Amino acid sequence: MDSDRHIAVIGAGIVGLSCALWLQRKGFDVSLIDPADPGSGASSGNACTIADYACVPVNSPDIFKSLPKLLFSPDSPLSLRPGYALRHPLWMLDFLLNCRKKKVERSIRLLARLLAQTWDGLDPLLDQADARDLLEQRGCLYLYRTEAQFTAAQAGNARRRRHGVEYREVDGGEIRELEPNLKPEFARGLLFESASHVLNPLTLCQRYFDRFQRDGGTFVRARARAVWHGVDSVEVELDAGEPGDAPRVAARRVVVAAGAFSKRIEGVPMQLLPLDTERGYHVQYDGLQHLVSRPVSYNEAGFYATPMNEGLRFAGTVEFAGLDAPPNPRRLEFLARRAGELLDLPAKPDREWLGFRPTLPDALPVIGFSTVSEYILYAFGHQHVGLTLAGITGKLIAELANRETPSLDVKPFSPARFL
Ligand SMILES: Cc1cc2nc3c(=O)[nH]c(=O)nc-3n(C[C@H](O)[C@H](O)[C@H](O)COP(=O)(O)OP(=O)(O)OC[C@H]3O[C@@H](n4cnc5c(N)ncnc54)[C@H](O)[C@@H]3O)c2cc1C
Repeated sequence: MDSDRHIAVIGAGIVGLSCALWLQRKGFDVSLIDPADPGSGASSGNACTIADYACVPVNSPDIFKSLPKLLFSPDSPLSLRPGYALRHPLWMLDFLLNCRKKKVERSIRLLARLLAQTWDGLDPLLDQADARDLLEQRGCLYLYRTEAQFTAAQAGNARRRRHGVEYREVDGGEIRELEPNLKPEFARGLLFESASHVLNPLTLCQRYFDRFQRDGGTFVRARARAVWHGVDSVEVELDAGEPGDAPRVAARRVVVAAGAFSKRIEGVPMQLLPLDTERGYHVQYDGLQHLVSRPVSYNEAGFYATPMNEGLRFAGTVEFAGLDAPPNPRRLEFLARRAGELLDLPAKPDREWLGFRPTLPDALPVIGFSTVSEYILYAFGHQHVGLTLAGITGKLIAELANRETPSLDVKPFSPARFL
């Protein structure tokens, strides 16, 4: 192995895998480190949408009006575990500060810029991993039950349009034609006609991983406990043996791509970065994918119904409760109940799942060099759009590691913005 071209990637979710494949395309020898099966974290259970239209984040100036109802109504797509905000007041405050109009406009502009490059990052990987059969282009439909809900969403939708996102407004009659199995009457909808989704995000990760191994990549099944950097190289300390005496992976550079768990890795000065998690859930009904023709977003309930190759998945909602709290049965009950409002479903779902979106208060990912060493790169914090942005993130990381001018200005995504 050419030690100058050896790079370690921590985390084998969709972001780490995409970085690994792009680094291999640039001729790097890659060691991928993860204690779990590749793709088995947030990347497996998401709503499967390639949401290149999703430049409007959860952060919104309207949140100040709607927050009490959003947080405390049992019928809300957003929930906050009692005590969590009190233990993490700075993150919550930072999030609220990033809901001010000017800040939101900035996040939308930067997210839109990144999302516009989605396919430049994703297309080559789909070919490389022979995974095009996992992609469906059938559009995506946003639903509003009342005219009032539609009017309330107009400001956000206008912002999408200003940033080049194309969609068509549809009325109740057209919604019935597009999705005849939906039970409620919807007043209005938005159809993102060119949108795509993945038939199974876990299978996509597995295809990436197979390609990675076939191209000579090394998989190290272990937790990275710490990253230590020297003058011109790094060492990743693994979670085995005594600290200080644990096995290490030596490499020229390291990419930290451990999603919401990135902050737990010691050595890299991550502690000052306000990385937290927006927990999300899914319930799934095997074999019922024929009930909808495309991903359908039930906006007032905060989830998508997505037809996959193995069933119909209802995925979404946001819960602030950190990485360690057990799954909240009330959130799963909410999801199943509201899914049953949308379509005729069996009383109980076949699968239930909790996952951890990695989120920074400004809704932007961290992509770039660590502030302490040009041998440490960060790639995490993709919140609701990590499946969509993984490819372009991998491309940018590979360009930075290869000392090229990145195809997009990554300065706004630098960790330095928080320091
Ligand atoms: C309900 C829900 C719906 C979503 N819907 C969509 C959608 O429709 N479209 C979209 O684009 N995005 C969606 N997302 C967001 C998307 O799933 C995430 O942004 C994305 O999966 C994050 O990928 P990741 O690789 O950063 O993290 P993960 O997939 O969580 O991977 C992180 C990996 O790091 C490993 N790891 C952790 N700690 C260590 C360590 N110390 N050492 C080594 N490895 C470590 C973990 O085992 C894991 O394998 C959704 C998310 C949720 C929860």
